[in-house]
Amino acid sequence: MTEIKTYQMYTNGSWLPAAGGEWFDAINPYSREVWAHIPQAQEEDADQTLAAADGAFAEWANLGPSRRGKLLFKLADELERAAKHLAAVEVRDNGKRFAEMLGQMRMIPRWWRYYAGLADKIEGAVLPNEDANILNYSIYEPLGVVLAITPWNSPLFIASLKLAPALAAGNTTILKPSEHTSASSLEFAEIVDKVGFPPGVFNVLTGFGAEIGQYLAQDRRVAKISFTGGEAGGKAVYRQAAERLSTVCLELGGKSPNIIFADANLDNAVNGAIGGIFNASGQTCIAGSRLLVQQSVYDQVIKMIVERCRDLRLGDPMSPETQVGPVATEDQLNKILSYVDIAKAEGARCVMGGEAATGDHLGNGLFAQPTVFSHVANTMQIAQEEIFGPVLCVIPFADEAEAVSIANDTRYGLGAGVWTEDVRRIHRMTRAIKSGMVWVNMYRAINYVSPFGGYKNSGIGRENGIEAIKEFLQVKAVWINNSETVPFPF
Ligand code: NDP
Repeated sequence: MTEIKTYQMYTNGSWLPAAGGEWFDAINPYSREVWAHIPQAQEEDADQTLAAADGAFAEWANLGPSRRGKLLFKLADELERAAKHLAAVEVRDNGKRFAEMLGQMRMIPRWWRYYAGLADKIEGAVLPNEDANILNYSIYEPLGVVLAITPWNSPLFIASLKLAPALAAGNTTILKPSEHTSASSLEFAEIVDKVGFPPGVFNVLTGFGAEIGQYLAQDRRVAKISFTGGEAGGKAVYRQAAERLSTVCLELGGKSPNIIFADANLDNAVNGAIGGIFNASGQTCIAGSRLLVQQSVYDQVIKMIVERCRDLRLGDPMSPETQVGPVATEDQLNKILSYVDIAKAEGARCVMGGEAATGDHLGNGLFAQPTVFSHVANTMQIAQEEIFGPVLCVIPFADEAEAVSIANDTRYGLGAGVWTEDVRRIHRMTRAIKSGMVWVNMYRAINYVSPFGGYKNSGIGRENGIEAIKEFLQVKAVWINNSETVPFPF
């Protein structure tokens, strides 16, 4: 039995319990034990936090970009030191493998350093004008309070994609993590506190999305919402932002096609297909959940996948031996299993997995077997809806035109993979596919300089790179007349 840790929220540079004195449980999906108590924020907490973030804005915005950058660099160093600890906290909350979470934690400082370095490189321009007496220039200014709402699958990684550019640009921030994975954001706040950011610049409020998330999202002091999560939550915050005519960045779901042509190096393609869906037990927005395979190699590819995955080691996500960890929540497991039933009823054939995994070594854990369905038609519900679990739908196609048509026949457009040795086809496919990212002979890569985001219902706006910092800035045109007279206008 683990000792239960009781967390507090971080508001205005102070640690506070929720005003109402209520807490909710953090549950370890491997042991199903409650391991922490998380404060459940009330409206009173939100009001205090909004006032703090709003009040801190002017000082932070005017601090000067290199001083802001210096704090962000310092934070990056501290995050690097804390990587193992933060990874272990996230594993306890979402059940993903330690090796994967540690990889993420080791990547996070790169985002902070990149935006720390960008803070003093945000330049306006002196604009050409016909009249030599007029000086017209543009300046970029921060927006105000940024609300970052994050999901449970990669909590601190996703938070960093939002907070690093928002803070570098001079905004103050409120982070509302998923109720299922709040602990790492509170641990992160401890590090921010240690680094010495001014009070109110960074705040964490924990609680339920439909309650405190909505309450924050509707407040007029929130200048921008950066949201990652499902479509329903994304639409809810978008509606709130629309009421105030403020902007949003939405990173939503996907049903990404991973396309294997017959001319591909099948060994590599199969490994890419497996990694694309079974890494993180399929709980990533960019999971390659629709595997499109050219008819002539369809049976062979399925056989190779099953041979390589039949004996994947499920187990304790902290163990380096484990290849597949549990899924994050009981609801998530039930959702995955219900889609398996739907798939069978729709006529897809389950060629591997398809059940909850149990066994002595799995204890009480919330495990779904890595699952493969063949004979999937793209019109089926399992090919159109995001399952967010280790369920691969294998869809055959005849030729390139059909591959493109199936790949784009989805309301989503987040990622896509193409496996082929034909250079001309690579260029045709990367143009034809309607998604924010296309990977060729690789899958599921992300880097701080490379734009990340979705077409269609997969989202609005982009994270990463120079463009992302502009999501958190607005541009002002300044006109100065240097002539001595202003003529009468009529
Ligand atoms: P949710 O949309 O349920 O939750 C995401 C966040 O939004 C949580 O913090 C949640 O709080 C909050 N939230 C939910 N409803 C509201 C609301 N009405 N107003 C304000 N905040 C709200 O997604 P999940 O956490 O379940 O994550 C899984 C989903 O996220 C998947 O569909 C996946 O595709 C998507 N995702 C997308 C990514 C991308 O980059 N495009 C990356 C990762 C996930 P609470 O937890 O308390 O409900």
